[in-house]
Amino acid sequence: MRYEGRVFRPPSEAYSLIVQVTIGCSHNGCTFCDMYKEKQFHLRKLEDVLEDFILARRAYSHIERIFLADGDALMRRTEDLAIILQHIRDTIPECTRVTSYGSPKSILTKTPEQLALLRSLGLKMIYLGLESGCDDVLTHVNKGVTVDEIVRAGQMVKDAGMKLSVTAINGLGGTELWREHALGTADAFSRMKPDYIGLLTLMFEGGTPLQKEWEAGKFQLLTAPQVAQETLLMLEHIDSEGSIFRSNHASNYLSLKGTLNRDRDALCNTLRRALDGELGYKSEYYRAL
Ligand code: SF4
Repeated sequence: MRYEGRVFRPPSEAYSLIVQVTIGCSHNGCTFCDMYKEKQFHLRKLEDVLEDFILARRAYSHIERIFLADGDALMRRTEDLAIILQHIRDTIPECTRVTSYGSPKSILTKTPEQLALLRSLGLKMIYLGLESGCDDVLTHVNKGVTVDEIVRAGQMVKDAGMKLSVTAINGLGGTELWREHALGTADAFSRMKPDYIGLLTLMFEGGTPLQKEWEAGKFQLLTAPQVAQETLLMLEHIDSEGSIFRSNHASNYLSLKGTLNRDRDALCNTLRRALDGELGYKSEYYRAL
């Protein structure tokens, strides 16, 4: 396959064919993120994208899942995306699931009819980054959108019949805004009720602007118990019936998984046990992005 620069995908797309339909992220401005820093956002030539699926067809006899990269595939025109999805159906008919990241702005540029069309052509799930349900936190990290816009984008994805997977980042409010971050994020999740909720924990890599703030003493990272406290407050206030909850990324200090709201009390009890010292946290050495 032909790739431009570093390629990222959600953990659940580990076995998917990845094809870049755009390069980079159209926002590329979040101060905690270095994923696409070396890339200027642009669309790949449609012919090149289509050719990649033909190359993949020649290379692999069975392709079950496809992830459309990079950070912002939905920034392509709906007409282009429809051609890409139809081409996947024609060349890789056994594929059962096509997914992509969707930035809030890219989703909000689409009409409900356009999203429904993409769903009907096989785009089954969108990964959306909430990061925080607190506007002060989003402003501080230059997310470029408000909580309400992100929630509306998530609701549009669900209304179109696609699955919605949403992530937030523990610790993103630092020690100053952790309560607002926890409560706002619980509220945003409750309003979207995503099919999948993923919690990562903030850690630094690549000399991001937020890392520089931390190095200058202007932003405080949470300790492992503080992250547990923040997660507990978030879970105590979440109402997201049916959401599959995961906080088992390599960046997390504690591994948590369950289905909301059914497992909420058990998840909270695990966090309380950790806060009481009955459970240990992952050491910094084993954490990774
Ligand atoms: S929108 Fe996502 S990919 Fe783009 S800079 Fe922000 S966190 Fe990174």
